Amino acid sequence: RQAQYRRLRNKPSVSRDGVEVSLQLNAGLLIDLPAMAESGARGIGLFRTELQFMVASSFPRMSEQKALYAKVLDTADGKPVTFRTLDIGGDKVLPYLRSIQEENPAMGWRAIRFGVDRPAILRTQIRALLHAAAGRELKMMFPMVADVSEFVQAKGMVERELRHLRRHGHPVPEQLRLGVMLEVPSLLFQLDELFGQVDFVSIGSNDLFQFFFAADRGNTRVANRFDTMNPSFLRALHRISSRAKAAGVPITLCGELAGRPLEAMALIALGYRDLSMSASSLGPVKAMVRSVDVGRLTARFLPKLEAGADRIDLRQVLAEFAGEQ
Ligand code: PEP
Ligand code: MG
Repeated sequence: RQAQYRRLRNKPSVSRDGVEVSLQLNAGLLIDLPAMAESGARGIGLFRTELQFMVASSFPRMSEQKALYAKVLDTADGKPVTFRTLDIGGDKVLPYLRSIQEENPAMGWRAIRFGVDRPAILRTQIRALLHAAAGRELKMMFPMVADVSEFVQAKGMVERELRHLRRHGHPVPEQLRLGVMLEVPSLLFQLDELFGQVDFVSIGSNDLFQFFFAADRGNTRVANRFDTMNPSFLRALHRISSRAKAAGVPITLCGELAGRPLEAMALIALGYRDLSMSASSLGPVKAMVRSVDVGRLTARFLPKLEAGADRIDLRQVLAEFAGEQ
């Protein structure tokens, strides 16, 4: 099996009817980087920057952060890399940062909330990213945005850092793209405002699913209580992809959902053409992409999702379709 997937490495991720589905890698440490070449990923769709902070014994200095980001970009060698700014707080604890006790850490003081309240930390990270990407493309996205105004605030911080670097004669990125992780359901009702502000959006389906069903992703009693193929959730994902397409905003999905072939197939039917996943999922998902006819898949799946999906097992619809391919 492994050898079979390895053979796919240099084969295009294109469906039988010629639809390209871009497959990227989720990463977070230097040891993840060789997987990019080995798996034939198109780029890094999610670089979780908090991992460097979690394995360190004290706050990584700006120079250390910059060194890591530069190394990632060097290794990517021109392939796109999307850096996600610090997602600490919640279950991602830093032993050297005094944490406050919270009843519901997943819904607590974390990620961008922490970033805008402790601007020195986020500003340092932004500066490290801007330095590391001098003269090349930088894609940066912010986690756990619940209101578009939080992104606007973060964007203001980036612009301020850019001005600072220019004023001091430092080189800056040749191209800068700023995005939002869509992982809090409130954003579903601010899509126009969101698309008006961002260069791209990436769905964090792990958190979006957790908050959508109010089911703690780390609590085994409830984490699997709802199927990821639940029609209400898939309808939400469909709404996002359709609206993004209409607004001309690039959209990616980088949660675990993208790495499971049947779920990834559903995502393709919902209009997703850019998925980011762990290295081990890339081969199986690419094999699936190459085996399906996207036109037929979409024509089969969408009507079932829209009409009376509460009585239809969507998983079975897809499994049957896959069997016919
Ligand atoms: C997500 O929430 O889907 C995601 C990709 O981010 P993380 O798993 O790091 O929270
Ligand atoms: Mg998340």
